[in-house]
Amino acid sequence: MRIRWDEIPAGGLFFSVDDDSWVPGNEVVCQGPGVCAVSLRKEGGRVLLAGTLRLPVVLACDRCLDSFAYTLAEEFEVVFELLAKEEEAGVASECFCKNSDLDVVYLAEPVVDVFSVLAQQVYLGLPEKRLCSDQCLGLCPECGANLSRCPCDCARGAGASPFNVLAKLKAQ
Ligand SMILES: [Zn+2]
Ligand SMILES: [Zn+2]
Repeated sequence: MRIRWDEIPAGGLFFSVDDDSWVPGNEVVCQGPGVCAVSLRKEGGRVLLAGTLRLPVVLACDRCLDSFAYTLAEEFEVVFELLAKEEEAGVASECFCKNSDLDVVYLAEPVVDVFSVLAQQVYLGLPEKRLCSDQCLGLCPECGANLSRCPCDCARGAGASPFNVLAKLKAQ
């Protein structure tokens, strides 16, 4: 969804995004429809985009590899500015840091790609550590059983600790 700056009326543009074609499918699997609202308004020579996003997704647990439901909830604000001609040519780069408190995106042409902003929010909103639960016990290093669901017998035998595994290796 590309919106030209001259399509934004003086009072701003408000809309909700109902389809999920923008969701980066290689990164997350959607589970049901999301709720996403975006506003665009012009201010001076810039365009401000503000939005909220709620998206139910399915992630894979880092420990046990099971999939689990997660809801991405993001609130975001992005400022778009146009590159001056000389900046476009890569001459000046100073102004790239003048708005360090705000998320500023510099554009070569006055067109905002709303879907790419939304996709970016998904990347930013994903948890760094993805766990089905804080108590997830992960997989048994010996037999690969999911220890949260069906504890295996390995822990009761001699092969339970990594030191025993080491000892075994040394003995061979
Ligand atoms: Zn897990
Ligand atoms: Zn096991």
